[in-house]
This record gives sequence, C-alpha cells and structure tokens, in this order.
Amino acid sequence: MSYDLLIIGGGPAGLSAGLYASRANLKNLILEKGDAGGQIASTSEVDNYPGSIKNATGPTLSMRMKEQCVEFGSEFKKEEFIDLKKDGKIFKVKTDKDEYEAKTVIIATGADPKEIGCKGEREYRGMGVSYCATCDGFFFRDLTVAVVGGGDSALEEGMFLTKFAKKVYIIHRRDELRAVKSIQDKAFANNKIEFVFDSVVEEIKGDGVVNGITVKNVKTGELTDMAVDGVFVYVGYKPNSAKFRDFVELDETGFIIGTEEMTTTTAGLFVAGDIRKKMLKQVITAAADGAIASVSAEKYVAENFE
Ligand code: NAP
Repeated sequence: MSYDLLIIGGGPAGLSAGLYASRANLKNLILEKGDAGGQIASTSEVDNYPGSIKNATGPTLSMRMKEQCVEFGSEFKKEEFIDLKKDGKIFKVKTDKDEYEAKTVIIATGADPKEIGCKGEREYRGMGVSYCATCDGFFFRDLTVAVVGGGDSALEEGMFLTKFAKKVYIIHRRDELRAVKSIQDKAFANNKIEFVFDSVVEEIKGDGVVNGITVKNVKTGELTDMAVDGVFVYVGYKPNSAKFRDFVELDETGFIIGTEEMTTTTAGLFVAGDIRKKMLKQVITAAADGAIASVSAEKYVAENFE
C-alpha cells in the first residue's frame, strides 16, 4: 500500500499531523501500537490544553483527536512499527502486520517517562503516582507529595508543586544533586521543599489511592515510612528513537534534533512531538509540531513528486 505521508505514532503530534495532512488532501496513514493518544491516553485529566472541557479525561481528548482526523480522511491502524528503509525517494515502512510505501514520513513516536521500578508504582499510576506535575499538580492542593529524582526536572517540577502542595519532599538517591546550580539554589530557598538524600523509594502504598511510601537510606539501609498523598516521578525520559538512528541526528540523550520546519537530516523525513529535542513537552507543543511537520511534508511532496 502506498501513501503520500506515513505518520509513525498516534499521540497528539501524530494525530494533529494526520488532521492537517487530510485537510491538505495528502493520502495519509497513522500507525500506533497502542491506543490513540500516547502519554495522554493514560492521563486522568488534561486541563492545560486550551479549550479542553472540564473533566475531559486524557482518553476522551485522545479519542476526539483520532475521530477528527479520521473524519477528514486519515487512516489509523493499530500496528507496531518495526523498521524504516529509504529506497531512492520512497520510504518503506514495516510493521508487525504489513509493509507500506510512502513519499514522506513523520516520526512522532514520543518519549516515555522512566519508571522508578518500585513496588506499587504501576498499581497506583493515575491514583497518586504521576509523571506530570503540570498535568496533575493541581489535584494536590494543601496535600503532601514526594518527588523522586535529583535532576533539573525533579527540582523544577518540585518547585511548581509547591504552588499547590503544602509540603514537597524531594527524594534523591545520592547526596549531590544532578540539577544545575541555579535551579538547586532556588529549590534550597523554597521553604515548602525538604530534601531526602541518599534515599530510594522501595514501595508506594495506598488504599485505592496513594497514602504513603517506604524509603530506604542507601548508606545505612534504614527503612522509613512517610505519609504522602502523591508521588511524582522525575527520573528521566527515554525517547523512542532507537529505530531511527541511521536517518536522523540525535542529541546525547537520544532525542531527535529537528529544525523549526520539523525537518531531519534525511530528506522527506520529519519529526514531531515529545521525541523532538525541545524545551517544553506538552500536548499543545506536540500538536503544534504535528501541524508544522504536516505542512512541511505537503511542501516536500509538491516539490519532489508532482
Ligand atoms: P536527568 O537529568 O536524567 O535526571 C534524572 C535524575 O533521576 C537524576 O538525578 C538521577 O540520579 C535520578 N534517577 C535516575 N534513575 C533513577 C532511579 N531508578 N531511581 C531514583 N533516581 C533515579 O533527567 P531530567 O531531570 O528529566 O532532565 C533531562 C534533561 O532535560 C537534562 O538534560 C536536563 O538538563 C534537561 N532539563 C532542563 C531544564 C531546564 O533547563 N530548565 C528543565 C528540565 C530538564 P543520579 O543523579 O544519581 O543519576
């Protein structure tokens, strides 16, 4: 099967790319291994996307985005991307079910927050365990939360959470932070934040929702139970870029370096969303990337195939 544009990844970036492509009359296919929506498919509330309806859940917004691009002509297939090749000007994409050809491809495979890997983390995901303070911080007004990690994200998001929470513990596995000095200074000056160094979270506990954690001091082995209402995990992100490394330039952490037009180092191959190196990874910036990538793909097809 042959397409003008093949979009790999069905999160907000991929779905927005599909919408713009269909409206520009490009024959396009979106490939997604899971449910439409990517990371927001598992986010309880999306309150920071302009126009989102109160209590509109991540899955509801994802389904609407998918319906909208399908209404305009996008095809959506639940298939897992396996391999990309370029033969002359044509891209060949293999999935777990089929093979496709396309004039252009948009990579929108996203990045997944890394997990701590402790007991209770998966069980309480969305029930007090969160990977997005911007999305969920609001729900912890006057409550106590723990942030896990010692990098820029943990400290910046920890500070953001002090707008809502009455107390924020930042739990880091060493006694030295990874975050840059300027961010550290601000976090140390914040009187709602208390650092718990040399410590890892052994278990997240609750009774339907999170109500505590067990923390282990890695130097003494001592176990301490702490009462918290939420756990925000910021131990890094893993971009889903490994299968594209022969076609694109990656930064030192594996994110794809793209231009403002979402081009990559391979002609006809574009990038959009959380997999792209950028400063703000949110639904709104993913959707914007998808729209730009689609317009760039449309121009590329017009200039190279017609
Ligand atoms: P990061 O820099 O990779 O930091 C991850 C933190 O989590 C580290 O402190 C690490 O500990 C800890 N960690 C990793 N695995 C862990 C585990 N299994 N259990 C407990 N702790 C664990 O990730 P990030 O903070 O998300 O930042 C990612 C990139 O974005 C960085 O380049 C950062 O500079 C950038 N960023 C910049 C800004 C800004 O400039 N304003 C804001 C956010 C992010 P160790 O230190 O012991 O390895």
